[in-house]
Amino acid sequence: MSNLLQTPIEYLKGVGPNRGELLRKELGIHKYEDLIQLYPNRYIDRTRYYKINELQNNPAEVQLIGKIINIKTVEQKRGKRLVATFTDETGQMELVWFQGHKWIRESLKLNVPIVIFGRCTSFNGFFNMAHPEIELLNEHEQSLRSAMQPVYPSTETLTNRGISNRVVNKLMQQLFQETQDLFSETLPHYLIDELKLISKKAALFNIHFPKSPDALAKAQFRLKFEELFFIQLQLITKNLIRKQKIKGHPFTIVGDYFNTFFQNHLPFKLTNAQKRVLKEIRNDMGNPAQMNRLLQGDVGSGKTIVAFMSMLLALDNGFQSCLMAPTEILANQHFLGLSELAKSLDINIKILTGSTKTSERKIIHEGLENGSLHIIIGTHALLEDKVKFKNLGLAIIDEQHRFGVEQRSKLWKKNEIPPHVLVMTATPIPRTLAMSLYGDLDISVIDELPPGRKPIQTVHRFDSDRLKVWKFIRDEIAKGRQIYIVYPLIQESEKMDFKDLMDGYESISRDFPLPQYAISILHGKMKPADKDAEMKRFAEGKTNIMVATTVIEVGVNIPNASVMIIESAERFGLSQLHQLRGRVGRGAEQSYCILMTSHKLSSDSKTRMETMCRTNDGFEIAEVDLKLRGPGDLMGTQQSGVLNLRIADIVRDKDILLLARHHAVKLLKEDAPMQKPEHAALRLAFIELTKKKNIWNYIS
Ligand code: ADP
Ligand code: MG
Repeated sequence: MSNLLQTPIEYLKGVGPNRGELLRKELGIHKYEDLIQLYPNRYIDRTRYYKINELQNNPAEVQLIGKIINIKTVEQKRGKRLVATFTDETGQMELVWFQGHKWIRESLKLNVPIVIFGRCTSFNGFFNMAHPEIELLNEHEQSLRSAMQPVYPSTETLTNRGISNRVVNKLMQQLFQETQDLFSETLPHYLIDELKLISKKAALFNIHFPKSPDALAKAQFRLKFEELFFIQLQLITKNLIRKQKIKGHPFTIVGDYFNTFFQNHLPFKLTNAQKRVLKEIRNDMGNPAQMNRLLQGDVGSGKTIVAFMSMLLALDNGFQSCLMAPTEILANQHFLGLSELAKSLDINIKILTGSTKTSERKIIHEGLENGSLHIIIGTHALLEDKVKFKNLGLAIIDEQHRFGVEQRSKLWKKNEIPPHVLVMTATPIPRTLAMSLYGDLDISVIDELPPGRKPIQTVHRFDSDRLKVWKFIRDEIAKGRQIYIVYPLIQESEKMDFKDLMDGYESISRDFPLPQYAISILHGKMKPADKDAEMKRFAEGKTNIMVATTVIEVGVNIPNASVMIIESAERFGLSQLHQLRGRVGRGAEQSYCILMTSHKLSSDSKTRMETMCRTNDGFEIAEVDLKLRGPGDLMGTQQSGVLNLRIADIVRDKDILLLARHHAVKLLKEDAPMQKPEHAALRLAFIELTKKKNIWNYIS
């Protein structure tokens, strides 16, 4: 990039210190090149000129050619307004100003051809346009400003301080006149040819001053591709570098622990997906480079056994493992599950959480430090400085959305050579999002459920159907099944939620009275010990119904619970609904999920209910979720670069993303350090981007 493009923005003609300060503060524009990359949010089609007698059915923004024949000030109850009569060969209309009269009145010229632009409204069959944009026809024709008029991102402060869209547009013109010869190509020529891209220069020009919708589309495609391509280059390079540079313990041995378990104690036949994933993990851990793998598998797909067998590999090679879960309930459950799997092996497993007693804690700390403790399961408590491992070889993190990146990297730092890392998530992430969020991680997917599962039947019922739903519950309980009834999350401030839950609990207690029925309750305000006790009662079948908030959302495994009722289901997001539903369908019985809502539903809510009733496939649900909410609202995206994209949108531009990924992989396969002459410009641009770092600091 040329030096001129690095010029501070206030030096641009028309900017100066005051506007420069505003542009910096409001839009983060510091230099010339930042302004060039201020891409319009949308465009207004100004290829078309309307006549006054055509305005009838055009409420949107329109432009007309004509002239002003008369200007007057009209006194009103509330201040004055300025009214001009505008005419073309088909009729007359009024232009109106409520503010800035003096300045406007001085600038308006009578009886010269002008172009006006704005939003029309009609009053008594007479059209008027408030605060129109006005330009002399001959200037309009000469203007660099194009037919498709860009609308730039702005802020209230900018508008109030006189930096209107029009001003930004003028600045952009000025900038182009000064600098357009400096825009050099960044992409290799063979790629430009192959994808029939327009040049960088043409793209920048047409994104700001498109002469036609077609030119605009080409410019958008080129710039979106470039943006996504560079992100993919970054992510993939990062992965390659990590594999070369970040040392890991090579687990070369498949030994007694693994083999004994595999041959004698496997509780079921592994699914093909489980086998494949296990192989991927074994391959990774066999290398002297750190594994950094994301394991995605829908609820119930059987991630636990994969985690356990990976831990056995660590053990076979003389290393400790840890498994970190986001909640105490989950940590407990993992502890029970893994202890069960390990019961016939000689393995020392313990659990460490916030409520672990001091005396026990001491024993654990010692065991970890002297190596006699092989596997530790826990919550955030594992991250405390006091916890030191003799030789941590594998760190498994369950449900990674809930852990911040910083917390995760804390685990790495516990040893000189970092442990292999396996992040498990039951929230399926659409492929495009995964690529952009975790493109530098390796991804394994368990895309197959263990055999013999009956798909959960999901129905949507209205509050008015409650009697029928209650009858259904009674029938299921009579068959020996257990029921979850879930209420929306309790947040500290949301007293209403708590009231809903408690009201619900009371009325359920009335409808399902003791001694025939026993009911558990579980919510976030309970003490951990009480929660555990309540959970245990339900798990042991001592209660029939569990009334709960979303604290039961992740991981809880009670095979005899076969009905999930979600109250106010419209208040949950799709991925949460899917997670909750995953609490049932874990045993041999037919399971059901009933989504209860009121009759009043937004169209998004309807789509969510329909999607849930239609499919059990977490990936399909995740795709719909991404479409409905956009990446900004999905967990995990906040810290990522997905939101910092200037022009591309990973939902709408999915195909371009896939294309960019494909070409980035191909390019780096052939020329990873980008040393070939045809990649010289690319390399320069790449280095420039890496220096900025703004997008890339989200993964440790
Ligand atoms: P998740 O991926 O949600 O953590 P789990 O590991 O808890 O799933 O497994 C869900 C249930 O399926 C458990 O009861 C587990 O024992 C069982 N399971 C896992 N893999 C298999 C398999 N290959 N065949 C039969 N049952 C399996
Ligand atoms: Mg699990």
